[in-house]
Amino acid sequence: MITTMVDLAVDLAALEHNYHQLRRLCDPQVKMLAVVKADAYGHGLLPVARKLAAAGVDYFGVGSLEEGLMLRRAKISLPVLLLLGILPEEAEPAVASGLEVSLFRLDVAQALAAAAQNQGKKARVHLKVDTGMGRLGVLPQEVLPFLAALKKMRHLKVMGLISHLAVADQADKTYTYKQVQEFTSLLAAARAEGFKLPLSHISNSAALWELPEAHVGLVRPGLMLYGSAPSPDRPPPVELKPVMSLAARVLQVKRLPPGTSISYGCTYTTPDWCDLAVLPVGYCNGYSRLCSNRGEVLIHGRRAPIRGRVCMNLTMADVTGIPKVKAGDQAVFLGRDQGEVLRAEDLAGWAQTISYEIYCALGTANIKRYTGV
Ligand SMILES: *Cc1c(COP(=O)(O)O)cnc(C)c1O
Repeated sequence: MITTMVDLAVDLAALEHNYHQLRRLCDPQVKMLAVVKADAYGHGLLPVARKLAAAGVDYFGVGSLEEGLMLRRAKISLPVLLLLGILPEEAEPAVASGLEVSLFRLDVAQALAAAAQNQGKKARVHLKVDTGMGRLGVLPQEVLPFLAALKKMRHLKVMGLISHLAVADQADKTYTYKQVQEFTSLLAAARAEGFKLPLSHISNSAALWELPEAHVGLVRPGLMLYGSAPSPDRPPPVELKPVMSLAARVLQVKRLPPGTSISYGCTYTTPDWCDLAVLPVGYCNGYSRLCSNRGEVLIHGRRAPIRGRVCMNLTMADVTGIPKVKAGDQAVFLGRDQGEVLRAEDLAGWAQTISYEIYCALGTANIKRYTGV
């Protein structure tokens, strides 16, 4: 039984399990960069990074300079790639902490080269190429000229090309094959020009298990480490364990007569006698208001539908027919309860989003409790 009103638990043993499962999907010489941006998808940057470093991961990918510096302050000395790049004025601290930079702007390259020269170091960069994501990166035709410009900056070490896949999670891989082909032919062209590029990479979680030919030298999984499949309709060939769970204690249970309205807006009226459980989780806990009259929670291992609107920190569930529900019992919003389970994908379906957003929302809005440390 949980001891607080709301309990967001992060199971680091499950994280480690998922890491080893993903390793099984790659050749032994392929390196693995764990994507821990956005506070490790809401799971907590430092506990997650410490666990994965101990498990043997090769690289970390973070969103911001600040996240990279947090890893360094925690004495994590593995290579860290700043996936969004940096601002020119962030070059000095990035180089000082030995953080590697995703690069797509010449002014940033110059700032990094100057900082590296000042500090008597080499700054490691990965040239970001837009092969079809339509987001960060230089266009394919700009790659060779950009590499030529970087070659003149002697304090930069270009590790490789990096690109991101737009639809690798879809069953139809036509577009993804085109992106991968563009990427590998750019690599070949650059190498033919004499650029070494020892560490290039394009594989996210989806490509990790569905497209081994895209592994190149390194893979960059995020979501699958946290226990979800990028495409819920096609389960991966390894068993993944959910890492995050959310539970709460029932605050009150009461029997309502037919015709009683529930919550703001009176959007639900009991058609019959109803046993209602009031739960201390709402949208301030990252639980989407779109779950109003749509979501479910687990109580005593049974599914209880949410009635009325989700409030700021309360939600009501219909426990009619579930025996002996009383105040203080445990309700599960995400995770397992006896034989039943609610996955991030279930919550994402009710909230019209993807599991990624569920993890970020719940993880950043609640105090986290770690197990399996
Ligand atoms: C977030 C991200 C990933 C990880 O994607 P998943 O689908 O979570 O595996 C990989 N590469 C880049 C550049 C990213 O931004």
